[in-house]
Amino acid sequence: MKDDIEKPLPLCKLCNAPLRSLHSAQPGYREGSFFRVLHCAVCNTSCADPLTIDSLLYDVIYSQIDSLPGYNRYAHYARQVSLEHNPLAYLAEAEDVYWSIRESLADLPADSKILEIGSGLGYMTFALRKAGFDARGIDLSRVAVENAIKRFGPFYEQADLRDWSLRYPQTYDVVLMAELIEHVPEPGNLIQLAAQLLKPTGKLVITTPNKSNFPEWVLWETEAPPIHLWWFSESSIKSLAYSAGLKLHFVDFSSFNRKHPQPPLRVMDPYQPTFGALLDTSNRALSKKARRKGEQQRRKNFYFLRKMKRLFLWRCQLLQEMTGFSRPHSRRAILCAVMSKPQH
Ligand SMILES: [Zn+2]
Repeated sequence: MKDDIEKPLPLCKLCNAPLRSLHSAQPGYREGSFFRVLHCAVCNTSCADPLTIDSLLYDVIYSQIDSLPGYNRYAHYARQVSLEHNPLAYLAEAEDVYWSIRESLADLPADSKILEIGSGLGYMTFALRKAGFDARGIDLSRVAVENAIKRFGPFYEQADLRDWSLRYPQTYDVVLMAELIEHVPEPGNLIQLAAQLLKPTGKLVITTPNKSNFPEWVLWETEAPPIHLWWFSESSIKSLAYSAGLKLHFVDFSSFNRKHPQPPLRVMDPYQPTFGALLDTSNRALSKKARRKGEQQRRKNFYFLRKMKRLFLWRCQLLQEMTGFSRPHSRRAILCAVMSKPQH
């Protein structure tokens, strides 16, 4: 696009290296909004510019969740877990995110205190309670919290993490943040506040889409900004943990991968890699037809040369897959980081 510009580029918030622009006008989650996508080659991490959160947008999303691709599966899980004999096993089988969370809690004694930050519709907190843990959830979205309380009981609160960390310092054995960190403008602050909630022996469990092993030029294929603001790699998650003075290990997905093989690199459409807009300007979910129209427009907006470059790189990616260069078997397209305070 013509405005591939001239606007100065900030430094990477995670490692201070210079950023470069991958896309100057990526369509946002709401129709008519646009963001730059910037990339740090040193920590292989992409972020939106501007890095802003619109917290009321989550009430909008949770009020019409069944009509929004990406989020609608959460509504399905919320309905399904109460019917399951073992909700945690059900979720772990349904999605790698939940499998990795269960893995990271495998040695946790029953009755341990868990806080889920960004508990959404509440099904993960519910599943953890059913598994014997003393789990609670907090979320910014009033609609999500009301929904969770109605369905699963009074174990949820609409709360701001800053207030919560002042009220409950050193309280939890585990603080869980599933698919949350990519939504916040200041991931470093988020980790520091979450760490304050931990007992000295507690651990922080974080899942997020994983950019490690995806080529630099690929844009994230998940929710558009200002919903997803980041696409982290293992390297940037390491920077975040070390900046917060925390030890870190990543959950190994080998045994999940054996049962649920994933292509080594997901093959991405070289023309228009994100969902694009899912809401219209009055915050109503776009119809399928309107979404398709937006997609056609995005394709048109791609410069011919950029299109050719992506097509070439995409072919290379395909070739790489076919010749068996693959993502190490211990990884998925999401990562699960377990952080803890060093013991002296
Ligand atoms: Zn960086």
